[in-house]
Amino acid sequence: QAKQMGRKRFVVFDEALAKDMVDVLAMESELRKALRQNEFEPYFQPICRLNDGKVMGYEALIRWNHPQRGLLRPHDFVKIAQDSGLIEAIDWRLFEQSCRLLVQIAPQDPFITFNVSALHLRHVDFDIRVLKMLERAGLDPSRLITEVTEGALLDNPESVRATLERLRSAGVGAALDDFGTGYSSLSYLHSLPLRMLKIDRAFVQELDKPGSSNSTTVVAAILALAHALNIQVIAEGIETQAQRNALLSMGCEMGQGYLLGHPLPLQHWVGPQTTE
Ligand code: C2E
Ligand code: MG
Ligand code: MG
Ligand code: MG
Repeated sequence: QAKQMGRKRFVVFDEALAKDMVDVLAMESELRKALRQNEFEPYFQPICRLNDGKVMGYEALIRWNHPQRGLLRPHDFVKIAQDSGLIEAIDWRLFEQSCRLLVQIAPQDPFITFNVSALHLRHVDFDIRVLKMLERAGLDPSRLITEVTEGALLDNPESVRATLERLRSAGVGAALDDFGTGYSSLSYLHSLPLRMLKIDRAFVQELDKPGSSNSTTVVAAILALAHALNIQVIAEGIETQAQRNALLSMGCEMGQGYLLGHPLPLQHWVGPQTTE
């Protein structure tokens, strides 16, 4: 009896595992098809100067217009796209599309940022590919910022540093994304050629809660450190006026979040205004 139950449990587990594998494989083939049929689209979230609200740039965030499931966010598919390696082809297409859109619709000053994953940074010619892509799209390198997370640096920090350094000499900037959540080695801050640092929204969203003095201290310290190293700071995930005011009073120059604007197609932000 016990043996039978044990075997049955084993079978149940095995079935669940098999179903997961089938799901992953199905998702992979859906992602391939989506790439062929251009179902991915960049959404743009404004990055604003906090004192007057001026849009300084946009973060390009991937969305999947799924024919049956509607608009999907990265949470629903980026992990599988990364594990299968498909994220590279998907991202390159998206990056180039975002640059072209920016050139067409917002020819003036705003910069654009991309989320670059660890996989991209493993290629020694990543910088060359970026520069070729910018040339094809006709976007000035000084208008591009690559966003890297601390996790993506762990693999081979020295080679990532060299890649970002070559990009920097070509005019492309780098931002450290989600700062404070990852491995937060302070040595990254001075060893990497960073133009910007993005404070993770976990800290920002604590700022207007009662007893927020700890996160206030952390944010103030990050700002002091970044500014001493000549790195600009973007606060992520600003949802309330109180959070914005707190950041402003601490001297944070830029912010991003639902209070300032949700991620949307670029036309939404610049469509009507540019034709004056
Ligand atoms: P991230 O780079 O940290 O992007 C910020 C995320 O916070 C975005 O989620 C954005 O929609 C969300 N967000 C912005 N303001 C607020 C706010 O006020 N409150 C809250 N609760 N959330 C806010 P999203 O678009 O779902 O992207 C999630 C993650 O997926 C990104 O985190 C990034 O790591 C990754 N990702 C996005 N686009 C791409 C892409 O094109 N390629 C790659 N490889 N990864 C991407
Ligand atoms: Mg980001
Ligand atoms: Mg972030
Ligand atoms: Mg994040």
